[in-house]
Amino acid sequence: AKNGGANVAAYDSARDAASTDQLALLAELREALQADDQLVLVLQPAVDLATGAPTGVEALIRWRHPRRGLLGPAEFIRPVENSDQLSTFTRYVLDKALAVAAGWAREGLDVPISVNLSARSLLDRRLPGEIADALRRHQVPADRLVLEITETVVMSELEVIDQVLTALRSMGVQLAVDDFGTGFSSLAFLTRIEVDELKVDRSFVLQMADSREAAAIVRYTVGMANELGLRVVAEGVETAAQRSALVELGCTAAQGYHFFKPMPADKIGAVLGSLARQ
Ligand code: C2E
Ligand code: CA
Ligand code: CA
Ligand code: CA
Repeated sequence: AKNGGANVAAYDSARDAASTDQLALLAELREALQADDQLVLVLQPAVDLATGAPTGVEALIRWRHPRRGLLGPAEFIRPVENSDQLSTFTRYVLDKALAVAAGWAREGLDVPISVNLSARSLLDRRLPGEIADALRRHQVPADRLVLEITETVVMSELEVIDQVLTALRSMGVQLAVDDFGTGFSSLAFLTRIEVDELKVDRSFVLQMADSREAAAIVRYTVGMANELGLRVVAEGVETAAQRSALVELGCTAAQGYHFFKPMPADKIGAVLGSLARQ
């Protein structure tokens, strides 16, 4: 009991320290959302495996923190999702991404941009209207925006989420299921919401070579997507071997370090331009 007591005390002080740090982080986020140069998007193209042409570009958030250094989403997304700043953050990311897409449109590059949405932001009924405004403001056609969503969603909230997603669809925005195959309800989700794209989770790409199960999941996902008329993008492709294995399994598009690492906004235009000319 003595030991147990000590452990509990240690656990509590660690938890207090962690939550104090999260509060500090959230206060800093509030400033960052106003600063305009701290929260930046890096961009990673997905490519057509047959032609090498870009099929889309995913926007991934980074925080150039003035004291903590460069932070990836793993270091701050969870606290943001659980805070009252989520909707401000979501709007910020969408605005930045659409500004990038507007630049491409001006250069005649017809490539959609994909934005990751936290499941919780789909509980906000104002979201479709805000996205419609942002599309108008940036003069980006709705179908140039792909919203990547994960299906880890609380059952009791399904109705609101379905309404929000249906509204977005009817505006012409595209929907992608991120990390496909990893959620509880991936397949049931497809019967409720019409989507445009499935992103095969990186874990399956990693295991494909050694796991018959992973290979079967990729093959069946591709087959199902073909039957439903959906695009499939394999995530996290790092090697030429994975690339050819994917081609063998029927996958037509992929994303990963083997093709491109996420890159700053000022680099992506040139890359897309040269891919488009190939
Ligand atoms: P995700 O949507 O599954 O994004 C893919 C992650 O894999 C990204 O990590 C990307 O940099 C990384 N990646 C890409 N290619 C490779 C590869 O070949 N190998 C490996 N090992 N990794 C690769 P990142 O940027 O750290 O993002 C992590 C997660 O954070 C994302 O997972 C997404 O769920 C979330 N996230 C990123 N940006 C945003 C955002 O703006 N809003 C929200 N709500 N979530 C975001
Ligand atoms: Ca994603
Ligand atoms: Ca993913
Ligand atoms: Ca992921």
